[in-house]
Amino acid sequence: MWPVKNWIIIVGLITTSDFFGQNHGYSSFQLKEHTINTPELIEWNINDSLHRIPTYDVYCHWDTSEIHLYNSPFKYSIDTTHLHLIYDECDYAHPHFGHISSEFGHRKYRFHYGIDIKLEKGEPVLAAFEGMVRIAKKSKTYGNVIVIRHPNGLETLYAHFSELKVKVNDYVQAGDLIGLGGNTGRSYGSHLHFEVRFKGEAINPIYLIDFENCELKTKNLKISKTIFQETIDLKAAKYHYVRQGETLSHIARKYGTSVSKLCYYNKIKESSLLQIGQKLKIQ
Ligand SMILES: [Zn+2]
Repeated sequence: MWPVKNWIIIVGLITTSDFFGQNHGYSSFQLKEHTINTPELIEWNINDSLHRIPTYDVYCHWDTSEIHLYNSPFKYSIDTTHLHLIYDECDYAHPHFGHISSEFGHRKYRFHYGIDIKLEKGEPVLAAFEGMVRIAKKSKTYGNVIVIRHPNGLETLYAHFSELKVKVNDYVQAGDLIGLGGNTGRSYGSHLHFEVRFKGEAINPIYLIDFENCELKTKNLKISKTIFQETIDLKAAKYHYVRQGETLSHIARKYGTSVSKLCYYNKIKESSLLQIGQKLKIQ
């Protein structure tokens, strides 16, 4: 059905054992630094794109320089789509085993479209699913960043690497080493920033991945307007960070709301002591 993929699987069978024997621990990981990278794969004719590039029929382009370029009204007009994530357990590999240091959602100054996983510089980061590397470059904000397009149309993004181990157009399997963790770009302390996107729209990764148990939650992901609604709601919410000397009534006045509403939204009492820097939901 897909000549390139079939060819890669055959090579994997001959040369590696970890393709089918994936293990979840650093010490026992058999990391594959190499990826499939042949002149045949790189020098395709654009007419072959439908066969060579994952879900080229959905995206109709293959941009290897722009990280986010779709900007589609997709989420407002979406028909429910069911994406098949894996056929077998070894079709998913947890990108990095570490605790979450930042969730998807609001940040003080900007929205956070991914999940941050703590790591030490130089620790391995693995491809979550098989797919083709669309982006492998240095970005001002993401630092050294990789975007992989998967056969079901999902894209995963991995950022802040100290070193990249794959190149654009490489075809990787789930569990392949794609880079070494780091602190490049807009990052304060080594971590992996991990995003899941469909047609450019960010999806909270917790819809498909259980980060506590480092495993996939489901074999099928239902993409519908609901899945993006959380992002829309979160972005619409207003927050305030408490400054020195502020009280609930100061803040309520500032935003044209009431102390009782602030207490209700934040599950606090009127008598609660506010901390400097405390995040309060305003609406
Ligand atoms: Zn992040």
